[in-house]
Amino acid sequence: MSIDVPILKAPPLSVEANVSLTTRTLQLRLAGVINEQAHFRALFDYVFGLASEVRLLVLDVQGVQDINSSGLRSWLLFLKKVQETPLRLKFARVSEPFLERANIYPDMLGPAGTPVEKFEAPYCCPKCDNRSLHLLDTQAFEGGKSAVPPSFRCESCQTDLLFDELEGQYFRFLQRLPKENS
Ligand SMILES: [Zn+2]
Repeated sequence: MSIDVPILKAPPLSVEANVSLTTRTLQLRLAGVINEQAHFRALFDYVFGLASEVRLLVLDVQGVQDINSSGLRSWLLFLKKVQETPLRLKFARVSEPFLERANIYPDMLGPAGTPVEKFEAPYCCPKCDNRSLHLLDTQAFEGGKSAVPPSFRCESCQTDLLFDELEGQYFRFLQRLPKENS
């Protein structure tokens, strides 16, 4: 059984929770901007209240568009408190703005060894100059050994797209993923 509940609406951030008692998983989907208005204490209390029912906390931050320095502090504190519970942590999907910050502040993605399943990566068409985001699977990167972005074609002109970030920086987070797939 799983149920979706909006648990926090602190503009401009919204959090939806999905609890599955079958898989003993709590998934949190965050969308919007993480700033000083985000109430991570309330969020932690919610998570903590379920800590005896669920074993895995899955975070989906693909909807996170921005995170400021005050939001960053709250987020890091939230993750630190989660680590003090028996819950395991996993990231399902990570947005481009979130990942850009996480490459500077790696603990935004939990302690080293925290799995990340999918992440957004920016591409650009050299012909029409269109920028597009593609959801990449970390399993395609051989546990961080390979940092070669997969190729895509432009939807309008079929030209091969170029990766639109510095690869060495953007894929840095891959090195902290678990070495074998979990
Ligand atoms: Zn094009």
